[in-house]
Amino acid sequence: MRKFCCKYGKVKWLLLTISFVLFYTVTVETTNGTVSGIYKTNKGFTNMCYNDSLTLSRIIEFHFNAIVLDAHNDFLYQVYKRGADLGEYNTNTQSDIEKFWLGGVDVQFFVSWIPPEEVKNAKNYVLNQIETLKNFERKYSGKFEIAYSYDDINRIVSNGKLCGLIAIEDGVAIGSEVSNLDEFYELGVRYISITWNNTNKIASSGKDEFNNKNKSGLTEFGRKVIKRMDELGMLIDVSHLGEKSFWDIIALTKNPVIASHSNCYSLDQHYRNLKDEQIRAIAQSGGVIMINFNDDFLVKNASKIRKNTLKNSYPETLKEIYENNRNDRISFNSERLNFFDGLVESEGITVDNVIDHIDYIKNLVGIDYVGLGSDFDGGIKPPVDLYDVTCYIMLTKRMYERGYTPDEIQKVLGLNFLRVFKQVCG
Ligand SMILES: [Zn+2]
Repeated sequence: MRKFCCKYGKVKWLLLTISFVLFYTVTVETTNGTVSGIYKTNKGFTNMCYNDSLTLSRIIEFHFNAIVLDAHNDFLYQVYKRGADLGEYNTNTQSDIEKFWLGGVDVQFFVSWIPPEEVKNAKNYVLNQIETLKNFERKYSGKFEIAYSYDDINRIVSNGKLCGLIAIEDGVAIGSEVSNLDEFYELGVRYISITWNNTNKIASSGKDEFNNKNKSGLTEFGRKVIKRMDELGMLIDVSHLGEKSFWDIIALTKNPVIASHSNCYSLDQHYRNLKDEQIRAIAQSGGVIMINFNDDFLVKNASKIRKNTLKNSYPETLKEIYENNRNDRISFNSERLNFFDGLVESEGITVDNVIDHIDYIKNLVGIDYVGLGSDFDGGIKPPVDLYDVTCYIMLTKRMYERGYTPDEIQKVLGLNFLRVFKQVCG
């Protein structure tokens, strides 16, 4: 295909013209529905004959043309904990607007996780966190905007801004009133993780079920919550849930469900990971599993093989690459990839361990049911070459090198989640 395009100039220009037209009308068919008009530029991979022998610069170009969506980020906790500012380049957080831009991230769910000391005050805590995010939106309106619908996402991404979405991690924020869901929905909350590590009024958690502390599953109140979430068009996040709760919800909900930051139990037997039957059930619902970058959920005995991230091992070099290229993300990624080349193979846990989980789901149920939910800024220990949100290019590059097609890479980077979002949230 590539040879054909490059040899015959007229054909090439004809294809370029067609691809320009397709930019406005392109439709990506998936097994579960249709996702329209979401390529960021007219240089989409499928229209540009990139199908073989990608050079490094083509991979970088492809990455920035694709929609990159991450379903789980805890930056809001860093605001609470240390007063971090989304619009400043923070040296002690894994995310901020500039880093998202350098990493090519277009769509980010910002999660309000409730720290133990705020559980009694959970609803107000969450309301404050949502207000904090909206203050950032006002302060950095040229660079950052919050989406409430699929059309919003499309518009914000097309305008070149970082698109934020709001989520709550732990249904404890709902308290005892189902009507709180309506309030959260109005404010923009588009998914809720039903539990965190502790059992709440809705359901028993993965940690508690695993430790035989509580295996009650979904409660009566929980059933009302799930039904109302379905009615509102709010995504149900099963990450952190116990198995009993999980199956109760699968039996009840009418919508596709998501796991916003969970991995495969078969690869790493951790209570936070999903068993094969659970992965199959999520796929059968039409949902998606978003892979977590925390090394404890990626490999067994992570603490024994864990090494310093490349950022910690080579702070001076990486600082220099950043300072010399901070206004040009193409050269930033190009220089850094060249520097990484040859460094990573013997370095403990790497991006390949993340792709192993993507591979596992792809082989078990198909490529349409997996995406990215890093858990950055939530206290995770990431792979050496995925140390912050500037590093998503590593996933694109390694997926390509491991034989993923451009289509498959785009699905993992964002299209799979967008399909589910469009179906449930509209
Ligand atoms: Zn979590």
